[in-house]
Formats: sequence, structure tokens, C-alpha cells
Amino acid sequence: MALIELDGVGRCYGADPPVVALHDVTLRIDTGDSLAVVGPSGSGKSTLLHILGCLDRPTSGVYRLDGVDTAALGDRQLARLRGRRIGFVFQSFHLLPYRSALDNVMMAEVYLRRSRSGRRARALAALDRVGLGHRAHHAPTTLSGGERQRVAIARAVVAEPPLLLCDEPTGNLDSANTAGVLALLDDLRRDGLTVVLITHDPTVAAHAGRRVRIVDGALTEPVPDTSGGSR
Ligand code: ADP
Ligand code: MG
Repeated sequence: MALIELDGVGRCYGADPPVVALHDVTLRIDTGDSLAVVGPSGSGKSTLLHILGCLDRPTSGVYRLDGVDTAALGDRQLARLRGRRIGFVFQSFHLLPYRSALDNVMMAEVYLRRSRSGRRARALAALDRVGLGHRAHHAPTTLSGGERQRVAIARAVVAEPPLLLCDEPTGNLDSANTAGVLALLDDLRRDGLTVVLITHDPTVAAHAGRRVRIVDGALTEPVPDTSGGSR
């Protein structure tokens, strides 16, 4: 079943002159897919991820998430949909450096209408899920880059969204930590999560089930796997 359907989606910034960041993008992503988005700097990758994440809206075309036309939703409804359905992971982790890993993960639920009482237990379970239960009371400043990204992933999945969107999730990691994060994303995918990630790293792209390329705002696929990756 299609989790994401983009039909002729465009995103144009400004008017004088307009910048066409995305042009006529048609893309279907099924539940359980893992998709890597590659392309040169400035080609529209982050713009696409922001639209998929309901942080931004298309200026043309249709975006359906879970069969719902997002254009039919007001800003508050869209924010609620985002909170319940989408987790985000960024290159630079975006953790509060002096709060514990546990606090960082618990923070993700503050804006959701989930019971307060279970918040701590759910955050601990999410940290366990990423293999960091034993680091729950450590601050990010005392964790390695790979551990910080795993905390960020725990925060992204604590509300159990079906969709995880990652913008260069391994961009700040060495190869050993990159492998650890990729293995973790594989685990999450086996549990049914749909993963979309932007990457410059051919090894990371090769790891995904499917690849698309964006050049000058236009999307093409498939991108041949040239790195000798396993899937
Ligand atoms: P990428 O993530 O692939 O590097 P982006 O999606 O960030 O590319 O940007 C795509 C294009 O849209 C670029 O030309 C960029 O300058 C332009 N762009 C991005 N955001 C804005 C904005 N808020 N206003 C105007 N132009 C923008
Ligand atoms: Mg970008």
C-alpha cells in the first residue's frame, strides 16, 4: 500500500524571479520501503524532504500521505499529522547538549496527546531499542557521534511513527558509526518502518532498497547501484 504519493509536485520560491526548487515530481513510496535520495547540492533534496515531512507545502501538484490529500488540511491539522506519523533525523543530531539522553527522547512527546504517565517508560524503551538503555542518563556531550545519532533516532521513533525521514543522517559520522546507524535503520525497517533518507554517500545509498536522484529539482529513477552494495 502507498504510504506516500506525490503527483506532479512542484515547489517554487519567491516570484521575482521565481526559484523552481522542485519540478513535477511524481513518486510513490510503499509502506516498508527504504528509499535513498541522492543529488548534487542545491538540487532540491531538502525541499523534497520538507514537503514529505509536512514542514512545507507544494506550490503545485498533490501530496497524499496515508491516502490523505495534505492540501485539504489546515496548518494545525498538518502539524498534528506530522507529530503522529513522521519522525525526523538530521545530520547534526539537534539534541539538547546538557540534558540527558532520556530527557531528549522524552521531549519528543511533549506536543503529542499521549499519556504523560507512560512518557518515561516509552522513552526508556526507545533508548533500549537503539541499544542505548545503559546511556539513558548520559548527556549528549559525553556520547560519541554514533551514540548521539542513535539518541536522535530514539527520539524520532518514540511516538512510533510509520515514516522516518533522515537528512544526511550519517554525514557527521565515521565509517564504523555509519555502519551502526545503517544497521539500526535496517532493524527499524524490519519492524515495519518506512525510511526515506538523503545522502551523499554511495555506500549509504546502496544500502537502501531503492534509489532516486534529483537534479535541478527534477527526479529520476532508478539510480543504478555502482558501489557493489548488498541490496
Ligand atoms: P539540497 O538539499 O539538494 O542542497 P535545497 O532543497 O535546499 O537543495 O534547495 C533547492 C533550491 O531551492 C536551491 O536552489 C536553493 O537555493 C533554493 N531554496 C531552498 N530554500 C529556499 C528558500 N527558502 N527561498 C528561496 N530559495 C530556496
Ligand atoms: Mg539539503
